[in-house]
Amino acid sequence: MKICFKNTKYTEIYDLLVVNLSFKKMARVIVIGAGIAGLAAALRVRKLGHEVTVFEASDTAGGKIKSLSLNGYRFDKGPSLFTMPHLVTELFELYNEKPATYFNYAKQTTACNYFWEDGIHFSAPANVVDFAKIASNVFNEPYTNIENYLNNSKLKYDATAPLFLEKSLHKASTYLNKKTLNALLALPKLHINKTLNDVNKASFKNKKLIQLFNRYATYNGSSPYQTPGIMSMIPHLELFYGTYFPKGGMKNIALSLYKLAVDKGVKFKFKTKVEKVLHHNKKIKGVKTKVGEHIADLVISNADVFTFYQKLLKDVEPPKRTLKQEVSSSAIIFYWGINKKFPKLDLHNILFSENYQAEFETLFNKKQVFKDPTIYINISSNVQIDDAPKGCENWFVMVNTPGNFNQNWENIIKEIKKNVLQKINRMLGVNIEKHIVCEHILDPVKIEQQTGSSRGALYGASSNSKYAAFLRHTNFSRKLKGLYFCGGSVHPGGGIPLCLWSAKITANLIEKEGYA
Ligand code: FAD
Repeated sequence: MKICFKNTKYTEIYDLLVVNLSFKKMARVIVIGAGIAGLAAALRVRKLGHEVTVFEASDTAGGKIKSLSLNGYRFDKGPSLFTMPHLVTELFELYNEKPATYFNYAKQTTACNYFWEDGIHFSAPANVVDFAKIASNVFNEPYTNIENYLNNSKLKYDATAPLFLEKSLHKASTYLNKKTLNALLALPKLHINKTLNDVNKASFKNKKLIQLFNRYATYNGSSPYQTPGIMSMIPHLELFYGTYFPKGGMKNIALSLYKLAVDKGVKFKFKTKVEKVLHHNKKIKGVKTKVGEHIADLVISNADVFTFYQKLLKDVEPPKRTLKQEVSSSAIIFYWGINKKFPKLDLHNILFSENYQAEFETLFNKKQVFKDPTIYINISSNVQIDDAPKGCENWFVMVNTPGNFNQNWENIIKEIKKNVLQKINRMLGVNIEKHIVCEHILDPVKIEQQTGSSRGALYGASSNSKYAAFLRHTNFSRKLKGLYFCGGSVHPGGGIPLCLWSAKITANLIEKEGYA
């Protein structure tokens, strides 16, 4: 609880005393947005003892992590791949709560089912040893090539995660410790000056295996032909830490954190869009919504940072270089209720494009959708059986697209749906149209409208340059004291694990900077 006096002079004197006597300084904190990072940040700063209110434009918590119900089918609307669950459960543990009271999840044995046009099919085990063994057989690739690659993936992750993912990159203190020295010593092995595709080409003989490992660039909405080779650490997250599915669906990651936050005293104001961030003398004063002004000592924005400067903080000069960054890819998703079961398919399935390089050039250089796109099919009813009626499946069919640059999405969707249906029929030997009983479609424009994500980007800025990590927006404002940022559009980036790290970095900064 922050002590406030009617006369603001007394409040200032009190604050001064607190700082000088090194007492804890409690603050009124406003979080803009109840996305996964907003929820995690709210929980973390609440744990520091602050008064926390979350303002959310939509009517529920979760941001991109939402659910959709259609004719007896349930779909996770956004993320479908869940890795590093410990980053979620540590939030319950922070409050000495048993995670299972709020949140349950199961480890998956298969990471993904991959299909190629020539009939090759690889069901990738979600652990390093089995993956290397079976991939070596399927792709006729020496076992040691795969083993070495995955060992290097671990090395890259271990050397850099404590520096690049778990700390602000924009504070001198980050660079003054032993872990940073380790990361610097490992620099030549991190492949920062090569692209991911270069690293994969040098590691494997088999073209399909190169394509499979190139795909990890899409985990943060980037191109393997541009993103630096250090991204070859991503398979480590999936194959070493494993992949999981939350009981009840992905939506429960966000909803369980929301419930914990309510139980711990965080206040939520839904359907309450923040219109403006208020400040005075380079210090945060609060926010303005349609119902008036709300005073705060600290504001944490979980809104997309591009949109934040355009709409909420128009009177402060934006960080131009940061906002000039290329946005990550977006997506078109077909949510199909299917009245049949397809035993060949699992929770995660990929139907690869024949020309991966042309696909990414089309996406990022031409800002168009490739005519033979790689298709991702997620079927959560394979794990959560009540997600579809008996004998049926809920198909989430996604193709990568560029962000919204005012392309003619109506035409693109028509064209791409035709190509997707043909490709699925061809590769799986089915006639899928006759099994689709209901449909909902999401596109970059709708993603932008529904989550405030600039150009409908799934992961904020892309990582299509070796400098991307350093250009991404800071977790604090350089212009306004008391303003902080978390979420997929700021450091360390998009995807659920990174968003959760951003919340941790932000809360740590708030704690270090004298609040609580
Ligand atoms: P967001 O989810 O972007 O939420 C921000 C919230 O802020 C929203 O609720 C919005 O309404 C609110 N807001 C914005 N402006 C205001 C305002 N002015 N006032 C009040 N509220 C405001 N990640 C994975 O890890 N695995 C995946 O498989 C995966 N697949 C994806 C598939 C799709 C289709 C999409 C869309 C994303 C996917 N991602 C995936 C990415 C992941 O969903 C995001 O990185 C993450 O959820 C972003 O969380 P966030 O905290 O940045 O907030």
